[in-house]
Amino acid sequence: MRDKPKLSWKPEKDKRVCTECHFKMRADELVKHYYKPGDEWWIVCPNCHAPEHIRVACYYPDCWEEAPCGSVAEPEYVFTCGKHAP
Ligand SMILES: [Zn+2]
Ligand SMILES: [Zn+2]
Repeated sequence: MRDKPKLSWKPEKDKRVCTECHFKMRADELVKHYYKPGDEWWIVCPNCHAPEHIRVACYYPDCWEEAPCGSVAEPEYVFTCGKHAP
């Protein structure tokens, strides 16, 4: 089993980006933007109000690309875009 790659940068967690309008936000800012149209809770973009377009953004500092997958790394598991995968 190979060693986990060590990060040379400090991950910025809890970043979220809207894929509709590219609005950038922190996960804790989203709490007040949950709403319940029926039986399910939806998350609505605070900027364009599109529901279900909020994605995890790359943990790399100042990168706000959508981060579709996570990677095991030291010191912690990170979500990144393809360019910043450890
Ligand atoms: Zn939006
Ligand atoms: Zn990135």
